Amino acid sequence: MLIPFNKPYLTGNELKYIQEAVSLGKISGNGEFTRRCQEFFEQRYGFHKCLLTTSCTDALEMAAILLNIQPGDEVILPSYTFVSSANAFVLRGAKIIFIDSKPDHPNLDERQLEDLITPQTKAIVVVHYGGLACEMDTIMEIAQRHGISVVEDAAQAIDSAYKGKALGGIGHLGCFSFHETKNIQCGEGGMLVINDPDLVKRAEIIWEKGTDRAAFFRGEIDKYGWVDTGSSFLPSEVTAAFLWAQLENLEVIQQRRKQTWEDYFAWFQEKTPPSLLSVDYLDQFNKAAEGLPFAVVSEENKVNAHLFYLLFENLDYRTRFSQRLKENGILAVFHYQSLHQSSFAKSHFPEQSQRSLPNADRFTDCLIRLPLFYELPELSQSHFFR
Ligand SMILES: *Cc1c(COP(=O)(O)O)cnc(C)c1O
Repeated sequence: MLIPFNKPYLTGNELKYIQEAVSLGKISGNGEFTRRCQEFFEQRYGFHKCLLTTSCTDALEMAAILLNIQPGDEVILPSYTFVSSANAFVLRGAKIIFIDSKPDHPNLDERQLEDLITPQTKAIVVVHYGGLACEMDTIMEIAQRHGISVVEDAAQAIDSAYKGKALGGIGHLGCFSFHETKNIQCGEGGMLVINDPDLVKRAEIIWEKGTDRAAFFRGEIDKYGWVDTGSSFLPSEVTAAFLWAQLENLEVIQQRRKQTWEDYFAWFQEKTPPSLLSVDYLDQFNKAAEGLPFAVVSEENKVNAHLFYLLFENLDYRTRFSQRLKENGILAVFHYQSLHQSSFAKSHFPEQSQRSLPNADRFTDCLIRLPLFYELPELSQSHFFR
């Protein structure tokens, strides 16, 4: 493949900081680099409290424990998402209620939310697809009125904003991913953001295997012990040191990704894509692009250039397009398969799998993501980028 779909970017300082972490002599979790990374987010985005985790999946699992999700509770989340958004709550025995995407974007359709709420509903998981914000004002208002918690799956949403507020900092809890496919990465990594101050103390305990060790290390108590359920959710300092090298370069990385995103967008909006990307059945994108929500890029409603997708009229056109790119050495990939149609949903939530969620199914069949990574402009010069 001449142009992969993704190529993890290295800033050059990763090994230097890892070496530093090793020579500090404490490479288990919650050390100097963990503190630096967490403070970076708290200061830059105004997040109340951040805890690094080994993945976004782990952050979501922490969220489910922290919200006391029990068997019989219902959790509403989009069908068009990654399995972890659902699994974290399934592990605690929750029943998943799927919500459809918007007609013009994979984000959940907040207009359908209220009808899905029952007395059993404990949480709503919003997924900011491609770093574009869900309608948080509406969602938070509905959740508040019904006394339901909101978890933001902000795995793809680092450095995005909704009405001037950083994504991940609006719901009761926010979950980020630093998997190598995300804008900022450390191989495997994640973070839980605790926006509800009442949840901070217990979050730290769950993070530290059900003990009050974090408070002990701060000198608040003179011995630590088993006080709650928990698990081992913290990454080692080796991971945090790698992540720190990335965070130091966040501006540079974001700048580059945004330029690439804007180049793509301009081509398709002005109907002037390079010949390789130009096919007559692409018209649908331009139809979908009218009022396309993720064209709204401003400081207030910032989109982080996590991914760039095209939407085809049907599966056949999408297959032809990806085939055409593949023959030219370029890897473009589709994304999620509707969870309500999965074999797991069919066996565990059969009534959910029978519901009609046409928008989620349409994105399953018709959406394709183009390569988007730091080094793409250099790599693809002879193909389609300058
Ligand atoms: C990447 C991703 C995850 C999982 O992140 P990990 O860090 O790999 O666990 C969860 N949800 C969404 C929406 C994602 O894009």
